[in-house]
Amino acid sequence: MIVVIEDSTTQRLQLERDVKSGGWPVTAAADGERGLELVRSLDPAPLAVITDVLMPGIDGWEVCRRIKGDPKTASVAVVVLTELAQPADVLRAVVAGADNYCTKPYVVPTLIQRVRSAIRLVSSGAPMVEVDGESFALRTEPPQIAHILASSLQDAAQRYRELAKSRAALQTAYADREAMTRVVVHELRSPLQAMLAAAQISRRRPEILNDLPDLVERQGQRVRRILDDLSDLTRIELGQLPVEPTPRDLVEVVREALERIRPAVPDHRIEAHLPSEPLRVRVDGDRIEQVLTNLVTNAAKYSPDADRVAVQVRRAGASARVEVRDWGIGVPPDHRDRIFERYFRARQGETTAEGLGIGLFVTRHLVHAHGGRIGVEAASDRGSVFWFELPLDEAANGAP
Ligand code: ADP
Repeated sequence: MIVVIEDSTTQRLQLERDVKSGGWPVTAAADGERGLELVRSLDPAPLAVITDVLMPGIDGWEVCRRIKGDPKTASVAVVVLTELAQPADVLRAVVAGADNYCTKPYVVPTLIQRVRSAIRLVSSGAPMVEVDGESFALRTEPPQIAHILASSLQDAAQRYRELAKSRAALQTAYADREAMTRVVVHELRSPLQAMLAAAQISRRRPEILNDLPDLVERQGQRVRRILDDLSDLTRIELGQLPVEPTPRDLVEVVREALERIRPAVPDHRIEAHLPSEPLRVRVDGDRIEQVLTNLVTNAAKYSPDADRVAVQVRRAGASARVEVRDWGIGVPPDHRDRIFERYFRARQGETTAEGLGIGLFVTRHLVHAHGGRIGVEAASDRGSVFWFELPLDEAANGAP
């Protein structure tokens, strides 16, 4: 006989049916007191008691303690049913002397299996625990069981906290993406509007037709830069931005790159200070040009009142060092690391310069992919010096 103690009528009836499906005769009580009376009155004693925890009057823990405390009923298996899955509640079940527990809502086969193993536990000398269909004979004393249980539950709780943390990180990433999408839409809309407006005006005033190609080219380049940045960002995130270094003279790479960069900064003169000796490095020329383009266009963009940008290349120990100096707004000291982060834009609101906050992130990635370093310092009077260093190809430089 199995005794079911459950105060909710619907749940009690359901529980009776479910336990019967395990092949046992069942009798039930609606509260702790009557449940205990029933257990004591039955002859022979019931095989097991399944008791709810939260009940008016004597609660399930107390029912369990009294059954186990009375020599006449101590060998009745007790399974507590709890809605609470807190580690402390499971320990409460162990402390009360329960033989097993089951959380509500339960899966019927699991409940039956737990009742069965509880019955086996009290009837055999060697207590058994069943996990995932495997049986383990316990030779451990209850305090040890409590320890093991507490540890494993704490592990589970810890894993849950980690999950919650990574979910929060995912949410932040998602919010970043959303903010990013808004900025991209905004950044793409303004060149587009400039081109549409120019096309419309040119119908009424054909004399501006001459300026149209320049305007379309400038705005088109702006759109292309945004799309290039976005596609590089995605490729970096997927680990698919390839760098293919070959032996090159960095001085030559910089000289050629600057020729192509000049038209992109029409309001600034680029002063190049290049050594007469070659500096042999192993680089992907296109990627180094991309690094330089980002640094020089930034230098011009963030120095709207200046008319020059200086680029210097020199040897620095075992590295080749490139410096891009501007006479612009400068980078506040506490932002010197952060501006290389994805989406980070310093002094927003202070400047009207457009941007996504991706360029320096891509730039840093490219320099690191070459085994190099990158940073920014304040220039001596005003503005900033962005620098990067690439390891020299010693064998090539040492060769005659
Ligand atoms: P974007 O220019 O699109 O905002 P970047 O990643 O190229 O993105 O730069 C990140 C931020 O670093 C910029 O928003 C700007 O605040 C700052 N920055 C970059 N270059 C300079 C510079 N030469 N002088 C001052 N601030 C700069």
